[in-house]
Amino acid sequence: CGIVGYVGSNSSLEVLLGGLRRLEYRGYDSAGVAVIGVDGTLSTRKRAGKLAVLADDLEASPMADGQTGIGHTRWATHGGPTDVNAHPHLSADGRIALIHNGIIENFAGLKQELLDDGFVFDSETDTEVAAKMLGREYEAGGGLAAALGRVVSRLDGAFTLLAVHQDEPGVVVGARRNSPLVIGLGEGENFLGSDVAAFVEHTHRALAIGQDQIVVITADEVTVTDFDGEPVETHEFEVSWDA
Ligand code: GLU
Repeated sequence: CGIVGYVGSNSSLEVLLGGLRRLEYRGYDSAGVAVIGVDGTLSTRKRAGKLAVLADDLEASPMADGQTGIGHTRWATHGGPTDVNAHPHLSADGRIALIHNGIIENFAGLKQELLDDGFVFDSETDTEVAAKMLGREYEAGGGLAAALGRVVSRLDGAFTLLAVHQDEPGVVVGARRNSPLVIGLGEGENFLGSDVAAFVEHTHRALAIGQDQIVVITADEVTVTDFDGEPVETHEFEVSWDA
């Protein structure tokens, strides 16, 4: 029930775990992160239970930190609260990690289509369907944001989705429909969050994202478009409360 994304020069893991902690009030049963490490490889870690379970796990066996990452707290709707069903979920080639808050109403039909094409699923979630679709669309070309636009055009329901691709190391892409997502604007770093609590510790400048829009953040740039990639107007606001 919480989403955080980060690109910048600080430790992604610290920003993600801090942001997820500030979103804890929303409730959750599992937590996970994906980071593109300084060595350029994508790693994920996810655990059922409290954030402390994930944090302890990361302490006991550290993963490569980096400047790009996404973090998630899950409120299970499809598939029980287990480590495997926790997010992130991966594309078939393991190069894309995706997180999701909400429900993909038409996931069953889409999953059947992927199963017929030979895709294999690890989890029982509706979310993993979007992860596998995104991997397939990425191969059709145009980059991660365009691929995400094509995927979300086929989804019904409520979703905030964030994804990273190992081959686009300084980029986090997101999409929303009937589910919240806000951009935090920093200096040489940018943030995404379910709400401003996710990043208020780092910046008070925020950008609203409308329904059915796609966002791309890098350390220095933020782009918002509709699902077809057409630019849309954005509205900047000042977060008026303190961290
Ligand atoms: N429907 C997804 C799941 O059950 C996401 C739930 C959420 O919003 O955290 O995994």
